[in-house]
Amino acid sequence: MNIADLVRRNIRELKPYSSARDEFIGEAAVFLDANENPYPSPYNRYPDPLQKKLKQRISELKGVPMENIFLGNGSDEAIDLIIRAFCEPSQDVILITEPTYGMYAVCADVNNVGVRRVTLTSDFQLDIEAIRANADPSVKAIFLCSPNNPTGNLLDLDSILRLVREFRGLVVVDEAYIDFAATESLTRYLDDNPNLVVLQTLSKAWGLAGLRVGMCFASSFIIGILNKIKYPYNISSLTQQYALEALQNERQKEAWVREILSERTAVTAALKELSIVRRIYPSNANFILVQVENAPLVYQKLVEQGTIVRDRSRVVLCENCLRITIGTPSENVTLIRQLSEITTTELTTKSNS
Ligand code: PMP
Repeated sequence: MNIADLVRRNIRELKPYSSARDEFIGEAAVFLDANENPYPSPYNRYPDPLQKKLKQRISELKGVPMENIFLGNGSDEAIDLIIRAFCEPSQDVILITEPTYGMYAVCADVNNVGVRRVTLTSDFQLDIEAIRANADPSVKAIFLCSPNNPTGNLLDLDSILRLVREFRGLVVVDEAYIDFAATESLTRYLDDNPNLVVLQTLSKAWGLAGLRVGMCFASSFIIGILNKIKYPYNISSLTQQYALEALQNERQKEAWVREILSERTAVTAALKELSIVRRIYPSNANFILVQVENAPLVYQKLVEQGTIVRDRSRVVLCENCLRITIGTPSENVTLIRQLSEITTTELTTKSNS
């Protein structure tokens, strides 16, 4: 398979905007090339368009060469750019496996790209036969999410790899929650699979959701295409600087992950004791999918107490399910106390009235 053939023609032929800082190589002392204000505000200069220092650190941390890394304004930017680069509006489609993260379909909709939906099996795994049956040549990319949002489980590795090897388009594996999972990243399969794209983010385990830094790992060809169509200065100087500092402290991230995992165990145990809880799905992420009696009403009652969880009860395979993020120990105690004050009788009476 030639990945270049998958790229939209106008993108393949696009002559990208070349910013002042793109064209300059080497050392210089006087910058009169970008119509900036010369007085140090201190943010008077445009940032590095290719975020080289930050990528170098990410490259060390992830064991992926810099030329295989794209950084975006959140991984949401990478999702959007992949769809824009590879899917011809009102002609091509993406395939998603539901229930899953909502932005794949939203980005496709915004770009007038169709969405083919294949439901996961009842244990939230890939239905390979159904995916095969739906993966005709108009499908340019399959979006998978592992650990999956909102279900929290890992997708079976062999099934993912089978799809990557069989499918004649991109397979994008979103690993936003990989730091909480008992498995390794799929980045180690990039070299052998030119159609594999892996997404990660600094928004979860690294605690930097407010910064907006998403990572996309792929062949240098795909990374080149994304760089070609991104806004020239898509990551601000402040963000690059702050992210670089934060990434020096890997031990802090690891400590947070340990704490969140131990709280995940504690919250799971406490939820099991509650009469309104019907089922707790095993999680490899920093949230738990929980089936309760009358999820919309439980959600509402928690809101009244000032606690917000995610009501996923209208999502396929997630009937009466709430997605609960693991908080600090005291936030988790509050949640469990509030849930324990809701009785089954109250829920059934209210829903019948
Ligand atoms: N992928 C998944 C599976 C997510 O759950 C989220 C955020 N909730 C994202 C991507 C987006 O992450 P970012 O903050 O990097 O845009």
